[in-house]
Amino acid sequence: MWRATILTLFPEMFPGLLSHSLSGKALAAGVWGMEAADIRASATDRHGTVDDTPFGGGPGMVMRPDVVDRAIRAAQGPGPLLVMSPRGKVFDQDLAAKLAAGPGLRILCGRYEGIDQRVVEAHGAREVSIGDYVLSGGEAAAMVVVDSCVRLLPGVMGNTATSDEESFVSGLREYPHYTRPALWRNDDGVERAVPAVLLSGHHEKIRQWRLDQARSVTEERRPDLWHRYVEQSPEVSYNGPTFGKS
Ligand code: SAH
Repeated sequence: MWRATILTLFPEMFPGLLSHSLSGKALAAGVWGMEAADIRASATDRHGTVDDTPFGGGPGMVMRPDVVDRAIRAAQGPGPLLVMSPRGKVFDQDLAAKLAAGPGLRILCGRYEGIDQRVVEAHGAREVSIGDYVLSGGEAAAMVVVDSCVRLLPGVMGNTATSDEESFVSGLREYPHYTRPALWRNDDGVERAVPAVLLSGHHEKIRQWRLDQARSVTEERRPDLWHRYVEQSPEVSYNGPTFGKS
C-alpha cells in the first residue's frame, strides 16, 4: 500500500479534503494509507514547547531541531522525507509521478517562521514549495502534494489520470471542457453555445481543435512552458502561423 506520513502540529487537519471523493474512496479501500503524527508529542517539557525565538533576531518563532528530529524518528513510514517550504524547488507533475511510483512519502509541515535548518540537513530532507506565495503552514501544501500523487496511483481515477498525464508530458496546458446543455442561457440573457466542432463527431477535427486551444492558452499564459514546447516541436514556429498542423 502506498503510504503518506505527515508530521504536523495539527494532525486533526488530516485526512481533511483527502478523505473525500476519489482519494477518499481509495483511502477507505486501502489503495493508499495515511498517518498524521503530532510533532508536539515529541516535546520534552511539560508545556509541550516545540518552538523558540530565532537566532539573529527577527519576528516570529522557529521550530526546534531536537523536537522535530524526535518526531521524524518516531514516525515510521516509507519513502523520501519532504519538508514543505517556500524556499524549496517548486513541486511539479514530474515529482508527483516519481513519488507516486515509489512506496510513499513522508512530509514535514512547518508552522510559524519555519523549521531549524539543521534538522532539515541532518535528515537529507528535500525542501518542496507548492508555488511562489506564502502560506501560514505546511498542511495545505502537504495535502496538495499527497492529492496529486494519490490520483496517479493505479485504480484511483480509472484511466483518466493516465491520459491527462500524457497531455502534461507534452508540455501544454489543457484545452477547455464543455458538457450539456449544448446551448446555455444565463441570467445575463446571453445564449452561449458549445464550440460547434465538439458536436461534429469528427474525431480528427476535435483533436486538432483541442490541440490548437491547448497551444494558444499555453502561449498566452505560460511563456516559460511555451518556449520549451516550441523547442521540442519542430512543426511549431515562433513567428507566423503558430498552430501549424503536427
Ligand atoms: N518565514 C517563511 C514563511 C513561513 S510560512 C518565509 O518568509 O518564507 C510557515 C510554513 O508554511 C513553512 O514552514 C512551510 O511549511 C509552509 N509554507 C508556506 N508557504 C509555502 C509554500 N509556498 N509551499 C510549501 N509550504 C509552504
